Amino acid sequence: MPAPADPEPLIVPRAEHSISRSNISPNALRVLYRLRDAGHAACLVGGGVRDLLLGHEPKDFDVATDATPEEVRQVFRNCRLIGRRFRLAHVFFGPEIIEVATFRGTAIPAGRDGTDDDVLRTENGMILRDNVYGSIAEDALRRDFTVNALYYNIADFSVLDYAGGLADLKAGRLRLIGDDIEARYREDPVRMLRAVRFACKLGFMIDGPCEEPLADLAALLAEVPAARLFEEVLKLFHAGYGLHAFEKLRHYGLFAQLFPATDACLACEEQAFPMVFVSRGLDNTDRRVLDGKSVVPPFLFAVLLWEPVRLRYQALLAGGTPWADAIALASQEVASAQQRHVAIPKRFGMPMREIWSLQPRLERRQGRRPMALLGHPRFRAAYDFLLLRAEAGEVDPELAEWWTRFQDANAGDRAKMTTGGKKRRPRRRKPKKATTDGAGGASGGGEHVAGMHGRAAGDDGDG
Ligand code: ATP
Ligand code: MG
Repeated sequence: MPAPADPEPLIVPRAEHSISRSNISPNALRVLYRLRDAGHAACLVGGGVRDLLLGHEPKDFDVATDATPEEVRQVFRNCRLIGRRFRLAHVFFGPEIIEVATFRGTAIPAGRDGTDDDVLRTENGMILRDNVYGSIAEDALRRDFTVNALYYNIADFSVLDYAGGLADLKAGRLRLIGDDIEARYREDPVRMLRAVRFACKLGFMIDGPCEEPLADLAALLAEVPAARLFEEVLKLFHAGYGLHAFEKLRHYGLFAQLFPATDACLACEEQAFPMVFVSRGLDNTDRRVLDGKSVVPPFLFAVLLWEPVRLRYQALLAGGTPWADAIALASQEVASAQQRHVAIPKRFGMPMREIWSLQPRLERRQGRRPMALLGHPRFRAAYDFLLLRAEAGEVDPELAEWWTRFQDANAGDRAKMTTGGKKRRPRRRKPKKATTDGAGGASGGGEHVAGMHGRAAGDDGDG
């Protein structure tokens, strides 16, 4: 129906662009060919096209078609329809899933807002459900950024550009489609996080008018389901550019929406030390990703939330709470307050809290405890976490080195390290009341640990 108004795309024929079928997943090609052979329009779209044009390896391949989800299901036996917010078809090839979306319409009839089964918006304009189908031109215009709205057409292998994406790709510019930028962010506040993510991932600049309202609109993220934000946080921090993303998110006031407790901590310095732990942790995670090592959500969230846990822990110690209770309570409080903002699934929340609760235990080096700790399923993560804290100047590096040696030592040396090592045994202090001192002004980073665990949580703690 709206076809007459559809803009004409810029069409770049096969000979004039760099996308080669040899760089496209064979399964994605299979899907495209099968749809084409069944008489449907079918294109590769989104990040796949964008990344291929940039010469990067795409993370995944998304397909857009004029076939409805039901029609897609008729073409593929290995297919499932998913999603309520956006109904999609998933075509399965072993572990690879090709996502097939039907072209969506841009024009959402105002009268149907909030009432119709196909389209649902909140009072603030956020789209909750959007299952109105449309033409390819409309589909292009309801995507987020111009560089994400390029189509690779399987009918003739051309690239179709309805929104100026090719020029923006050349210019290294991230630009939302449409004139009413604020409305685009209101429709889906996650686009603010995507702006930061793509700016970091692609090394692009965010176009001025798209950048300008970010700080003012950041609070809209509160409307987004916390479970969806969990997924977005992983994409932001587990892709090799987490530190950069963190800095940008803070710059635009977006980080405070995701991790308010952490953000509040970062705003204050501690004994003239800026809090560098989160930055160090994210930098470390980035290096792991770039080295092809594994990264896991519990560790990431342990890093992102440690500052508030640490400060709460200190405060509880100062109030006389025994260390084991203090760390458990601090962990519990911070984790449960966080759920309202970014919901961490239980299977990750438990190990995250264990990483925290093992930190004071790692300071207890005497007797059989260290051996027992080595066998703890979360030991390795907790040890890595301790290394980070040492790197950030929050614990004495000697403690981290001790654990490094302890793991490598043979049974005899381990015994010496946990019993004989008189020289190394931490000074037994008179059991002073828990204190948060550390303002003693010792040089280097060691003083924070004194404040954190030194007395109350050290080897001379309870039991
Ligand atoms: P990558 O997969 O590399 O992270 P991508 O651009 O493919 O990047 P996806 O989340 O896979 O991102 O989304 C695929 C495409 O769907 C996008 O390129 C964009 O065209 C469209 N899209 C995704 N999320 C949104 C959104 N929130 N608003 C509008 N369009 C979106
Ligand atoms: Mg993608």
